[in-house]
Amino acid sequence: MYDVIIVGNGLTGGTLACALAHKGLQVALVDQQDITKPFHPDGKSFALSRSSYRLFSELAIWQDLNEVTPISSIHTSDGMLPSWVRYEENESEEGPLGYVVESALLKSAIYQKILSLKNITFHGSTSVKRCERGSSSSVLVETDNQITLQAPLCVASDGRCSMLRESAQIPVMKWGYDQIAIVCTVAHTLPHYNQAFEHFLPTGPLAFIPREGDTSGIVWSIESEKAKDLLTLSPEAFAEELQAHFGEALGALKVVSERWHYPLSVNLPKRIIDTRLALVGDAAHSFHPVAGQGLNVGLRDVSALARLLSEGVALGLDLGSQTLLEAYQRNRRADILAMTFFTDGVVRAFSTQSRLMARARSIGFWAVKNISPLKKFMIRQATGD
Ligand SMILES: Cc1cc2nc3c(=O)[nH]c(=O)nc-3n(C[C@H](O)[C@H](O)[C@H](O)COP(=O)(O)OP(=O)(O)OC[C@H]3O[C@@H](n4cnc5c(N)ncnc54)[C@H](O)[C@@H]3O)c2cc1C
Repeated sequence: MYDVIIVGNGLTGGTLACALAHKGLQVALVDQQDITKPFHPDGKSFALSRSSYRLFSELAIWQDLNEVTPISSIHTSDGMLPSWVRYEENESEEGPLGYVVESALLKSAIYQKILSLKNITFHGSTSVKRCERGSSSSVLVETDNQITLQAPLCVASDGRCSMLRESAQIPVMKWGYDQIAIVCTVAHTLPHYNQAFEHFLPTGPLAFIPREGDTSGIVWSIESEKAKDLLTLSPEAFAEELQAHFGEALGALKVVSERWHYPLSVNLPKRIIDTRLALVGDAAHSFHPVAGQGLNVGLRDVSALARLLSEGVALGLDLGSQTLLEAYQRNRRADILAMTFFTDGVVRAFSTQSRLMARARSIGFWAVKNISPLKKFMIRQATGD
């Protein structure tokens, strides 16, 4: 009998396992992937907020990341108007605005930590095929290689198409953007000085986030048809298109990695709990990457759930009790809703040619630039404070 069964060893499930093990809980972690093999790069470079940095530091995972690039400023601009605003590290009292870490590096550091923690039992290369939650005092999870696990609580961190969420019949609001995000790494002839860029173009947002040396990771969200055309171009022709959309701020651009692509949509479950079940990470919310916040919000789910469960242990509570689960949902709901609708609003506001919306945007840029508390609020949002 475990304290918690976690289904899904992505970045949120793996981090939750470490956080619970640190607090002394016995954890079973199941994933369909064979993670003993080296992680395949997925092209993503995560912009991690300060709250994510604090969590990884507390779990002694941060110390093992040997390639981290701080973000000292963020330049956002409206591709249709001459409006822009720049957020600087020195406006925020707490050091860098965020940190950029490559996805495979982060996964590998979390996996090393999992291996070092005795109270995590990892079941890899096996998929969960049944989760029986009924009304008894525990959950039974059965994997496709006939392993049966039992605990008072099961956590679904099985991603945006969560099988556990579906089997619990939790209704999900879904909508798409008819956009695909193309991600890759580019080298440039001018230094980035640790500056990130977010250009809001009428076809979708284009972000550059600083990486080591004179390279940056890009996330180019663009109309699906246009994206498909761009993906067929040679790296040189793609770089030319990118240059035409981004401009000369970083000098000449050259694509130095493969190109990956991700269709973009929103999944917003009506609840993030069910009988003896809690959802975290993309299983609990997935939204447009325009603000680079999906994982950061998922890691805030992890912090909240780990704290509540360790308080539950201290008070001798049943870890799958409705009281604890409802406390978790109350704690997370506002953040999830705010980020889903904030990112959705930003994408829509910048993808329209409406003159009225263009005026509203330029007033918005002016206000953020000139009203200091508003700018501080925006910085707090971006840094996860
Ligand atoms: C283009 C792009 C750029 C992004 N950039 C950023 C960024 O800069 N900053 C940021 O914070 N976020 C960013 N995000 C969001 C971020 O990628 C996700 O929020 C995050 O990776 C979700 O992690 P997860 O662990 O919740 O889910 P996943 O990574 O999807 O992990 C789910 C895990 O569950 C396993 N699994 C699934 N089903 C089963 C089953 N039945 N049995 C066993 N195992 C199962 C899978 O194998 C997988 O390992 C970006 C997203 C995109 C698309």
